[in-house]
Amino acid sequence: TPQLADRLNVLAESATIAMAVKARELQAQGHDVIKLTLGEPDFKTPQFIQDAAVEAIQSGNHFKYTPVPGYPALREGIASKLKRDNGLDYKAENIVVSTGAKQSLINVLLSVVNKDDEVIVFTPYWVTYVEQVKLAEGVPVLVEGSLEKDFKVTPEQLRAAITPKTKAIMYSSPCNPTGSVYTKEELEALAEVLKDYPEIFVISDEIYEYINFGGEHASMAAIEGMKERTIIVNGFSKGHAMTGWRLGYIAAPLEVAKACNKIQGQVTSGTCAITQAAAITAVTGPLDETNKMKDAYLRRRDLVKSLLDEIDGIKTNLPQGAFYIFPDVSAFFGKSFGDTKIENSVDLTMYLLNEAHVSVVDGGSFGAPKCLRISFAASDEELKEACSRIKSALEKLA
Ligand code: PLP
Repeated sequence: TPQLADRLNVLAESATIAMAVKARELQAQGHDVIKLTLGEPDFKTPQFIQDAAVEAIQSGNHFKYTPVPGYPALREGIASKLKRDNGLDYKAENIVVSTGAKQSLINVLLSVVNKDDEVIVFTPYWVTYVEQVKLAEGVPVLVEGSLEKDFKVTPEQLRAAITPKTKAIMYSSPCNPTGSVYTKEELEALAEVLKDYPEIFVISDEIYEYINFGGEHASMAAIEGMKERTIIVNGFSKGHAMTGWRLGYIAAPLEVAKACNKIQGQVTSGTCAITQAAAITAVTGPLDETNKMKDAYLRRRDLVKSLLDEIDGIKTNLPQGAFYIFPDVSAFFGKSFGDTKIENSVDLTMYLLNEAHVSVVDGGSFGAPKCLRISFAASDEELKEACSRIKSALEKLA
């Protein structure tokens, strides 16, 4: 019989599938399950962007293939955004737009990683990084930021992880799953280490740029001497609440942009024309709606943080961006309730689902098996109810 490719064997099965099945079962039995697993805004795409898409359809001008790396006007708009928000000078030729930042990332990895090259992945990481590095036949090297250090990687840790095979480092800031945000000073300290290794690329995932509660967004590309080897990955999914529209982009050195263009030309021929037309309006438009959403996430962050702080045994950092909180729940390992024994964070997520009817994601999926990821892209009411249920369930464990 025909056999599937070996490539499939290196990819991890999504740990959340069993959870999703169980959640559906409980819902079918009539239970009210609160889902805090999602990585997407619970807001609608701002009206002016919706209107631009309708107009794009009605104009009749956006039914054909676009240029592979995206409409010139969109790439110019993105270049202006990078100047406006980040003080960075890019030309349209440095920008490639793709079907989500997720595709931008795989384009980049396929463009720079040779078989057995090492890619340093700051941990906790977004699940997809490690799987995509493996798909590109590279080797993910995990460097772990601890809760005590706000889950951030230190310059010493970075230096210790570099080998002659290191091809790139990759991380997100603001970070999914921890909400940590690297400051300009912290990036400068990492860049200082990288100065000794000019052959290493930096893949800087900035998709949560607009969901930053503290100060300014800092990009590695803005650190002196780093723009020439930094690949910014960004997109419209989070800041503009446009996950389903599928639009991400890179801003990169010309060689990398050309390579991604070449790959994309054989994979998708470029992303949706209507989405691109609407994105021209989004990227050059006002950020009022985006900032309102950010304010709502901030309010919810404070709410969830204060409710979780009331639970004995839970330790958290204070997320400075994105819409996740990533508590260390290892204090509950080894405890039980009735016949249910909690050995690890997978057991604990399953227990919370069964006992509290709240679904969250186990930290092991992000390289941090002591933790859980709770998304606060949900209503204040849901978050209050969920935290209260989590508290009661955890208090039953002994
Ligand atoms: N990067 C990070 C850190 C994310 O959390 C996500 C989405 O969850 C993405 C990239 C992908 O976004 P997109 O919808 O643009 O593919």
